[in-house]
Amino acid sequence: MNVQGGTAENAVRNYRLFIDGDHAASESGRVIERHNPATGALVATWPAGTAKDAERAIAAARAAFADRRWCGLSVAERSAVLFAVADRIRDNAAELARIESLESGKTLAQATDEVLWAADIWRYAAGQARAQHGDSHGNLGDGKLALVLREPAGVVGMITPWNFPLVILSQKLPFALAAGCSVVIKPSELTSGTTLIVASYLSDAGLPAGVFNVVTGYGKDVGAVLSAHPAVDVITFTGSTATGQAIIAAAAPTMKKTVLELGGKSPNIVFADADIDAAVDAAIKGVVLNQGAECCAGSRVLVQYSILEDFKARLLEKVRRVTVGDPLSPDSTIGAIVNETQFEKIKAYIAKGRAQNTLLCGGEPVAGLPGYFLQPTIFCDVRPGDAIATDEIFGPVMALIGFDTPEEAAIIANDTAYGLASGIWTSSVDNAIWMARAIRAGIVWVNTYLDLPTEVPIGGIKQSGYGRENGRFAIEEFQVLKTVVIQDSRAYG
Ligand code: NAD
Repeated sequence: MNVQGGTAENAVRNYRLFIDGDHAASESGRVIERHNPATGALVATWPAGTAKDAERAIAAARAAFADRRWCGLSVAERSAVLFAVADRIRDNAAELARIESLESGKTLAQATDEVLWAADIWRYAAGQARAQHGDSHGNLGDGKLALVLREPAGVVGMITPWNFPLVILSQKLPFALAAGCSVVIKPSELTSGTTLIVASYLSDAGLPAGVFNVVTGYGKDVGAVLSAHPAVDVITFTGSTATGQAIIAAAAPTMKKTVLELGGKSPNIVFADADIDAAVDAAIKGVVLNQGAECCAGSRVLVQYSILEDFKARLLEKVRRVTVGDPLSPDSTIGAIVNETQFEKIKAYIAKGRAQNTLLCGGEPVAGLPGYFLQPTIFCDVRPGDAIATDEIFGPVMALIGFDTPEEAAIIANDTAYGLASGIWTSSVDNAIWMARAIRAGIVWVNTYLDLPTEVPIGGIKQSGYGRENGRFAIEEFQVLKTVVIQDSRAYG
C-alpha cells in the first residue's frame, strides 16, 4: 500500500492484492476507486482482481496447505501469531477505525468500538486454537482403539460485505487459521482497506507465505471463481440472501461446504410490562446503528396495543436526539449511507411506506450535507405483509406493528422468510421463556438488543443462512472429522 497526496489525514491510500506473501497489482492493471460516501472525496484504490488473480491465490493457498507450512505447526505456534495480530489491531485502533469510517460512512466512534471488538475476537480465537481436541474410544473391545481427529478443512474461500468489514473478517479468519486452514478472501469492493492491512499484520507476525491471500474486486469476477473452484474446500460468506443463493448454486458441482450468514428482518417485541424507556432506546439503536445496515437490525418493532400510543410518544421524543452528520464528528449518532445504490434503495422503500403506512417521523434526506445522509424514519400502522415489514431495507427505517397477545406476537414475529435475530421486552419470566421458545431465530435477546459477547455463537436459520460464527462452535466450521480405528494385530494370531 502507498499513501498519496495531502496530509496523512486526507491522503488517498493505494492498496495492492496480497498473494503468496507478496503485495501485487492485478494482472488486469485495473483498479477500483473508493469515494467517501459522506463527502464524495476519493479515499482509496484497490485492484479490480480477475479470475486469473483468484486462481493464482487459490494455487498459493493450496500449496501452503499441501506442504503443511501452517497446519503442520503446533497449536501453540499458531496461537502466538493470532495473539500478535490481536495486539496490532488494538494498538492501531485509531487508524483502522478512521479507514473503516472513510470507506463505509459509519461514525468514527462506532468504528472504534468495532475495531476493539475485532481485536477481542482475535484474542478469543487465539485462545481457542490451543483448546481444540478430538475424541477417543478405548472401550471397543480388547485390542481395538478408535481416535476421532479434528483436522483442518483445507482451503477456505471467504467473501465478505461492506457493513462491518473488520468485524466480519474477524468472525471468520482467526477461527479458520486456528483450525490450520489456508485462506483466500475477497472483501467487499466498497471496503477492502482493513482486510489488506490485516494481511500485513499477519505477515509481520510470521504467518507463512501463501496461507492468507487477499484478492480484491467484484463478486462476479472473483467471488464466483472462489465459489466454483474445485481446489477450495469451504466457502464462508456474509452478505445478502440473493448472493448466498448464487454461491450455493456455484458451489454445488464441487460439493464444497458452505457457511452462510445472510440477511434478516428481525422482530423486536415490546410487552406492556416492560421497562418502556429501555425498550424505546433499544428500538432506536436497533434501526439506527450503522445507519440500519446491520444484519440483526430490529427493523420490525412489535408493541402491545395497550402501550402503543405511549410508546410512540416516547419514541418520537427520543429519536429527536439522534444526530445525523459528519461521521468523523463525535456528535454524530448516524453517519452516511454507503453508496448511491443503497441510498436510492432505502428511499424507494420509504416511498412504499408512504403509500401503504403512516409516516411518524423522518423519511427525507438530510438537507445541507454533501453525502448520502438520511433521517431516521419510523412508520406506524404497519401490517405484516406490507413491503416495509417484509423486505430487508438495510437502512434507518422502523416498522411499528401492534399486537394483543403473546401468541399473536409470535405468529407475526415468525411470519418472515428470515430467522436471524429477535428481541423480547418484558418483566414476566413466563412471557420471556414462552416467547424465547416460540420465536424461530438464531438469537433471542431478552431485555437487551444487539448484545453480542464474543463467547456466544451468532448465525441464522431459514433464509438467514446456516453455520455459526464466534463462540466455541465457530472453529468447527473449518474442521473435518477423521475417524481412525486401530486393531492390535496380535488378534490375527
Ligand atoms: P452482497 O451479497 O451484495 O455482497 C456481499 C459480498 O458478496 C461482496 O463481497 C460481493 O462482492 C460478493 N458477491 C456479489 N455477488 C457475488 C457472486 N455472484 N458470487 C460470489 N460473491 C459475490 O451483500 P452486501 O450488500 O455487501 O451486504 C449486505 C448484506 O449482507 C445484507 O443482506 C445483510 O443482511 C448481510 N449481512 C449479514 C450478516 C450476518 O451475519 N448474517 C452480517 C452482515 C451483513
